[in-house]
Amino acid sequence: MTNLFYPSLQRQDVSVYYKSVGVFYSTYNCKSNYENVAKDCQYRCVYCDALIDECGGEPFSLDHFRPQHIFGDRFDGILKTHPFNLHLSCQKCNVLKTSDWQGCIDTESGPTYINKKGYVDRFKEDITNFLEVDHNGYVQCTSPDGPAKYMIGKLLLNRTNRVYIRKLREVKVKARKVQEMILDKQRKILDEWNSGSLSSEQVKQELEVVTELLERLTKLRKA
Ligand SMILES: [Zn+2]
Repeated sequence: MTNLFYPSLQRQDVSVYYKSVGVFYSTYNCKSNYENVAKDCQYRCVYCDALIDECGGEPFSLDHFRPQHIFGDRFDGILKTHPFNLHLSCQKCNVLKTSDWQGCIDTESGPTYINKKGYVDRFKEDITNFLEVDHNGYVQCTSPDGPAKYMIGKLLLNRTNRVYIRKLREVKVKARKVQEMILDKQRKILDEWNSGSLSSEQVKQELEVVTELLERLTKLRKA
């Protein structure tokens, strides 16, 4: 299940982001850094882990990780437009987070959570040190030291639709594995036929079983 949920994220080199005369374009500019930030975030919400495609394909929001409301006038306003402060977020998570900030406000790169309240910066820490997705699609807090419990509560990470999306993602991966196993079996049957260790009648019977399994799997995947 490596990387199926909450993969570790990395920024691109700062030179790839749009800027003009040393100032990064804001999200309101026509040349926004949306595409670059979306790529950084692997086209998924940094909070609930839903992929854009899993939510109908409409663009997500660019969340000011350190909120403009608090940091807008600090540090020469750099956090208003700097792409490294922009994190891809689905609309619902963005609305639920709003201007909430529980971390340090005295520096532009200080702790992002204090006393277990706040948010994990996905580009600074591996969030899977604090939470995991169980086999039913629920995000579970795995460490009492981090802000996972706070994030799950504040952002409603286990809202019905997101649990469904995660479960569906896992089921699809399993279905792909089953399909690979069936196709592998099909190849082995034909190899055995070619080597003469199976009769034509045996091959026919075994291939009928394999074909039926593939048809049933295809129907399930379309359901
Ligand atoms: Zn989200």
